[in-house]
Amino acid sequence: MCLDENTLKILNDVFLLLSILLPLFFLIYFFYDKKKKKKLGYYLLALIIIILIICFRGEIMNINICKSNKKINDITTTKAIPAVNSDNYIGKTSKGYILEKKDGAYFIDDYLIVNKSYALNEDFIPKNTHTKITDEICILCIDNEAYEKWLNIKNDAIAINLNIYIASGYRSFEYQKGLYEKYENRDGKDMADTYSARAGHSEHQSGLAFDLNSIDSSFAATDEGKWVNENAYLYGFIIRYPKGKEKITGYKYEPWHLRYVGLSLAEKLYNDGEWITMEEYFGIDSKYK
Ligand SMILES: [Zn+2]
Repeated sequence: MCLDENTLKILNDVFLLLSILLPLFFLIYFFYDKKKKKKLGYYLLALIIIILIICFRGEIMNINICKSNKKINDITTTKAIPAVNSDNYIGKTSKGYILEKKDGAYFIDDYLIVNKSYALNEDFIPKNTHTKITDEICILCIDNEAYEKWLNIKNDAIAINLNIYIASGYRSFEYQKGLYEKYENRDGKDMADTYSARAGHSEHQSGLAFDLNSIDSSFAATDEGKWVNENAYLYGFIIRYPKGKEKITGYKYEPWHLRYVGLSLAEKLYNDGEWITMEEYFGIDSKYK
C-alpha cells in the first residue's frame, strides 16, 4: 500500500491517540465495573485489540520510514538533489536557491543560468541538440526539448497566419567573442554591453535560446511580436530580457530573444503578463565582475 507522507502522519497521530486513550478507558472502566468477574472474557478481548493497535501503530511507523526513503531514492534517479557538501556546490542565492556548477555551466534547480555574472566555460557545447553542432553558428542547433516546443509554437502561429522563424540560434564561445568585439569597436564597451553579451555570457551558447524574425525592437509592435509575448510561456519559452527590467538583466528589452525553461517556470515568470526575470525569481545578479 502506498500512502503519502501526510496521510501516514495523520494515521500515526490517530493510532498514537488510540493507544493512549483506549488503555486509559479500559483501566477506568475495569476499576468501576462491579460485574468484572463475569465479563473477564470481554476484557481480555479488549486487551488483545489494544495490544494489536499498539503493534500496528509501530508497523505504520515503519511503512512511513520506508516510504520516505523510497521517495528520496526515486527523486535521486530522475533529478539530482543539490547538496551543500557536493563538489558542484557554489553557494546559496539571496532567495535561498542552491547554485551549482557542473559540466561547464551554472545551474539553479537544474535550470541553466547564464548572464553577466555567470558564464559558460569556453569549451561548453550543448549536448542533445536537434542539429549536431559542427560549426560556429547554427540556427537549429537547439536543445531537443526546446526544438520540439519550437515546432509547436511555430505551427500554432502558422495556424493563425503568423510567420515566426528563428533568425539566430546557437553561437559558439569564439563566435560570440568576435561578435562582441565588433560591437565594442563600433559603439564602445558601455554601449555594447547593453545589447551584446561578452564571450561565455551569451545564452546562445547554451542551445536553449534563439532570436526571432527581425532581431529588432520593431518586432514587439508586430502581430507576431505581440502574440509571442502573450503566448510563448504556454510552450515553455520566456522573454528573457523584458521591458522595464533592463537594470536587472543588464540588457535592453529584447522582444525577439526567447529562452526555453519549460512550462512550469515559464508560467511563473510570465506572471500574467508582468514578466519576472530569472534574476528576480532566483535571487541572483547579472553584473560583470
Ligand atoms: Zn538573442
